[in-house]
Amino acid sequence: MSGHISFFKSVENYVDKAASFTDIPRGLVEQIKACNLVLQIRFPVRVGNDYEVIEAYRVQHSHHRLPTKGGIRYAESVDQDEVMALAALMTYKCALVDVPFGGAKGGIKINPAKYTVEQLQNITRRYTTELIKKNFIGPGIDVPAPDYGTGPREMAWILDTYQAFRHGEIDSIGCVTGKPVTQNGIRGRAEATGRGVFYGLRECLSHAEDMAKIGLTKGMAGKTMVVQGLGNVGSNTALISQQEGDAKIIGIAEREGSIYSANGINVEKLMAFRKETGSIIGFPGTEHIGDASAALELECDILVPAALENQITLKNADRIKAKIIAEAANGPITADADPILLKKGVLILPDFYINAGGVTVSYFEWLKNLSHHRFGRLENRFQNEAFTGILNKVEEMTGKTINAREKDFLTRGGTEVELVNSGLQDTMVVAYQQIRETLLQHSDIQDVRTAAFVCSLKKIASDYVSMGIFP
Ligand code: NAD
Repeated sequence: MSGHISFFKSVENYVDKAASFTDIPRGLVEQIKACNLVLQIRFPVRVGNDYEVIEAYRVQHSHHRLPTKGGIRYAESVDQDEVMALAALMTYKCALVDVPFGGAKGGIKINPAKYTVEQLQNITRRYTTELIKKNFIGPGIDVPAPDYGTGPREMAWILDTYQAFRHGEIDSIGCVTGKPVTQNGIRGRAEATGRGVFYGLRECLSHAEDMAKIGLTKGMAGKTMVVQGLGNVGSNTALISQQEGDAKIIGIAEREGSIYSANGINVEKLMAFRKETGSIIGFPGTEHIGDASAALELECDILVPAALENQITLKNADRIKAKIIAEAANGPITADADPILLKKGVLILPDFYINAGGVTVSYFEWLKNLSHHRFGRLENRFQNEAFTGILNKVEEMTGKTINAREKDFLTRGGTEVELVNSGLQDTMVVAYQQIRETLLQHSDIQDVRTAAFVCSLKKIASDYVSMGIFP
């Protein structure tokens, strides 16, 4: 919650603001904003010698495209408003990156750390059963994925439960994404959200004239970066930005506190250190600078909040010194803090753009599941032979020899992970170009978030119009 505005209301407010820059009829905007289906569930789970009543949700925000899609979150913060807001963000996210799904989200109000693996499995299987009973899951209906507090393990339990009830359904493996690679998942999904953050940031940083406006030079190399949350999204963003973008990670925050080093922090070594000691505090060469929110206030070029919502609020917005904020988490900046940051000239890359890598690769996984074959399997050898033929011809015509290593590189087909990463990169770059184009066309739009919402709204509205529902 931000002040008196709920998370869902703040998403609606952003949409209303963006809609005012379009000619989409008011009634259609209201339809786009509305949550189409909300399922609230209570079920018992045996914990020790007693039972516990578990509170859970699944929200399908928009049916303008099917299936609906969105992660499942295990956190104590889960409530109906949060799940509705996150489901709505999924609708705008999918539209923005041309993933042909409606938005959805699920949540179970638990702290997973308080349960054994067996209890977590019981909770996940019972939740899935409730979704099946209500027809809230299926490859053409609603397809969950991981989110905060869940990962491939939970997705494998969901798949197994679904298949137990839907024996013989040919596309059943497409009922959930983010599965382990050995359980019909796809290579590259685990790191997809963080990798997408990296591609989006790199694209944004590549425009010298945009960077000059915020006092930065172009390019990621050497830029200082601070990351909050070393989970799936935060750790991959930090790791890939450091290893492939040469960013200098100077600050990291986790639950136990914040650390800083002007010389840069080796993320791979830090993660190994945390695995061993259970904490980031005390990592050699770093200084402990305060609690989990302290790092947010560090002077840096790029700040990546990658933990949970409501991290930058009225309380600390004034003290934020970053030039760019990439909202890797969903909703890390409250609606009342957003204008303060914009007034300070901070460039904010909004959540539903910058963290869209996860759903993009989930879409690739779903396509792989429905096609029942691995990407590249049909065409790789054929392409290899065709390219070899072309190179042989080039050698024959020029009288020059291409060395074996070069030939090998030029003729081989892409592996699954290479194809996934190149599709992801293209998706993030194209979406950024569309947002940037919108900003260039509308001199009255001042921020990336509003421009991105305009792009999404236009696409969703055009779907409704082509359905013949609205003129
Ligand atoms: P995760 O559970 O893997 O990691 C979250 C991390 O944040 C954990 O390590 C946790 O200890 C840490 N954390 C919690 N509170 C903190 C605090 N106050 N300060 C610092 N660290 C804190 O979750 P995730 O999947 O990485 O998701 C993180 C965010 O990214 C969420 O907002 C989620 O909705 C969003 N997101 C995730 C995906 C995905 O594919 N997993 C996709 C899009 C968006």
